[in-house]
Amino acid sequence: MNIHEYQGKEILRKYGVTTPKGVPCFSVDEAVKAAETLGGKVWVVKAQIHAGGRGKGGGVKVAKSLDEVRKYADDILGMTLVTHQTGPEGRLVKRLLIEEGADIKKELYVGMVVDRGSQRVALMASSEGGMDIEHVAEHTPEKIHTVFIDPTKGLLDSEADDIARKIGVPEGSIGQARAFMQGLYKAFDESDASLAEINPLIVTGDDRIVALDAKFNFDSNALYRHPEIQEMRDLDEEDAAEIEASKFDLTYISLDGNIGCLVNGAGLAMATMDVIKLYGGEPANFLDVGGGATTEKVTEAFKIMLKNPDIKAILVNIFGGIMRCDVIANGVIAAAKQVDLKVPLVVRMAGTNEELGKKILAESGLPIITANNMAEAAEKVVNAAQGK
Ligand code: ADP
Ligand code: MG
Repeated sequence: MNIHEYQGKEILRKYGVTTPKGVPCFSVDEAVKAAETLGGKVWVVKAQIHAGGRGKGGGVKVAKSLDEVRKYADDILGMTLVTHQTGPEGRLVKRLLIEEGADIKKELYVGMVVDRGSQRVALMASSEGGMDIEHVAEHTPEKIHTVFIDPTKGLLDSEADDIARKIGVPEGSIGQARAFMQGLYKAFDESDASLAEINPLIVTGDDRIVALDAKFNFDSNALYRHPEIQEMRDLDEEDAAEIEASKFDLTYISLDGNIGCLVNGAGLAMATMDVIKLYGGEPANFLDVGGGATTEKVTEAFKIMLKNPDIKAILVNIFGGIMRCDVIANGVIAAAKQVDLKVPLVVRMAGTNEELGKKILAESGLPIITANNMAEAAEKVVNAAQGK
């Protein structure tokens, strides 16, 4: 799960990390009021969307008067912000962060991710802050410094100090940088984050270390332990179909193609998408109905897939292990009746109660195309999607 920058900064503050003062706002009037309350002479008006690169896309503006705050807030709220992370369709901006302007001497980068290879949290830092870290990694990888943090010891003072020096933190601010990195690690660890990125972390004119941006991702499987983080979820930023699917405990990811896939098991779902591509088709979604799906769950899965106007055909690919083929067959029929199925449906099933499942489908009177193996199923669904 992702959260907004202002929410990430709220978490950081709890761990003693210095951030600029700021107020989240939902309207232009609120934005102006927030700037008045913050005081000072320079404010930054920042679009809050779950994507980075906002600065380059015109979603971060420095205002030098309350009139400018009003103007920029008005410009940015309601704009469709396109950044390299939003895709060409962009994101509608519904929230702003009004923040005090910082006096930037240097922009640095500090990020943390769970590194699967070492099974540790990797701390990555660079003197090249403020820009795409992907760009730095590609062109000047020697400017990225990494520490794999020992979970039994946490981030050691010596490790933090060493990395702070490598990224050019001034000698007098090393202690602050250490406190920052240890605070960030504690926040990361205790909140079950999977990614935390502070880009930029700045050194101010008076040599203070301040987190100017904050991006967090959390492990969804651990969210039950963190009700306060769950409350930060912003459904406006998530795919409507994926939200609907999560209500029914279905694993659903929207994709760009036109062949709907309903599969049980993540491995089989991946293989199904691969085989569709092998036959020249494009999947419209990844959908894993799980091992213990009921008829009701399958019906909901169908409804969610069919809301996608791009769908030209559907492939149901089921291995009946824990899941029984007759349950899927009944679900398919119930769903097809409820949603008035208009696109061709190819079904391949194998395993527990296979014969019963096939019999139920055959007797349903629905125009279902059956297939005996995955290759045949993929070929048939790709042809069906192309209207052949
Ligand atoms: P994004 O990464 O989405 O572009 P950032 O929060 O990193 O958004 O902001 C982009 C740039 O805007 C920063 O690199 C920094 O130069 C400037 N900036 C952001 N917040 C402030 C602030 N409070 N004061 C001064 N400059 C800021
Ligand atoms: Mg940034």
